[in-house]
Amino acid sequence: MRRLTGPGLRVRIHRGAHEIGGSCVEVESGGERIVLDVGKPLSAGPGVHVPLPAVPGLADGGDSSLRGVLVSHPHLDHYGLIDQVHPSVPVHTGREAAALVSAARFFSPLVPELRPTGYLRDREPLQLGPFRVTPHLVDHSGYDAYALVIDAGGRRLVYTGDLRGHGRKARLFERLVSAPPTGVDTLLLEGTHVRAAAGETGEAPLPAEADIETSMADTFRATAGLPVVVSSAQNIDRLVTVYRAARRSGRILLVNLYTATVAQALGRSTIPQPGFPRLGVFVPRRQRVLVKESGEFHRAAAVRAFRVFPEQLLAEPGRYVVLTGSSTVPELLAGGQLRDGVVVWSLWAGYLAEPSGRRLLGQAAGHGVRVVHHHTSGHAPLRDLKRLVAALRPERVVPIHTEGAHEYTRHFPAVTPQCDGTWWDV
Ligand SMILES: [Zn+2]
Repeated sequence: MRRLTGPGLRVRIHRGAHEIGGSCVEVESGGERIVLDVGKPLSAGPGVHVPLPAVPGLADGGDSSLRGVLVSHPHLDHYGLIDQVHPSVPVHTGREAAALVSAARFFSPLVPELRPTGYLRDREPLQLGPFRVTPHLVDHSGYDAYALVIDAGGRRLVYTGDLRGHGRKARLFERLVSAPPTGVDTLLLEGTHVRAAAGETGEAPLPAEADIETSMADTFRATAGLPVVVSSAQNIDRLVTVYRAARRSGRILLVNLYTATVAQALGRSTIPQPGFPRLGVFVPRRQRVLVKESGEFHRAAAVRAFRVFPEQLLAEPGRYVVLTGSSTVPELLAGGQLRDGVVVWSLWAGYLAEPSGRRLLGQAAGHGVRVVHHHTSGHAPLRDLKRLVAALRPERVVPIHTEGAHEYTRHFPAVTPQCDGTWWDV
């Protein structure tokens, strides 16, 4: 056991001890505090109000012992309540995470602005009162995501945020495993894939983004008509995957205006965007209407040189792949562009069981168009979580972002599950 040599470090999970999403963690040392994530629960739909957790000073800005909020990555279940945080409370997140959210808001107006006052940078420590926070860039389906190492009061806490080791940035997971932070007292470990009775399946590797690329390329090659890939405009790893798969199958990738806008906003020359070879822009009806009604015609003008129109898709569907949201599928079914084509569902399969998903399946079937599923999770499977725990060698493991907290003891050493709302010592 390490000896406590300072004022110590205490933690209170407000939400996430027994839930995937809505994460919020309060950390205290020497009477000062920081908050890790202010997520909106996944069970609360768009437009549904969820109050902030009861963190003194978070909503009213009236407590100077609150040194700030750290947002690990730009997924709503980690930052969705940020608009209720008082403007005087500092917010730190990744620069590109903030740029992504800002760019997304035109297309998804219910998304709150991240409004950072400072940035998380890979392995650059940040001092907030007594807290020394060292962000570690990680591999996740959310862009610009960080795990956080927090030193204060002579103790060390590591918060994984959300992470995986099978995405486009798998090397970041390997870096964390091969050169881990040492002397970790407590690891707050995400366990999206730690589930009751997961058994052998929980141990299996998940397909890598590279595997998804291969299977998509195979599907594109085997399709005479147009493949329409349905994914999230904010999943940048998947954009890279679809672009590479399109190129491997000799097709031109068309992204919608939302994807093009987000990709350009990140300001990275390595991310596929208008101007890349064999990449164009298809603007679905909903986005044409959005541009017209907002009067923001510069948005259409900015991609004019790269536009491909519905008539061109109809004339030569075999030349292209379209990457877009699910609302574009009915438009392309009705317009005939999907004849002899395929819908590639590149989101969680569970959405297809929901009413909107079942409707989409029905519409595709009505036009005789196949729907295939090519997707992988943004979260590490058990076997990778075990590798991470073995590398970090924490004094104890506390479950978060999981529905399987009581299962952790079966898989990891020194597990101490905690409850929402209770303070405990690191
Ligand atoms: Zn996430």
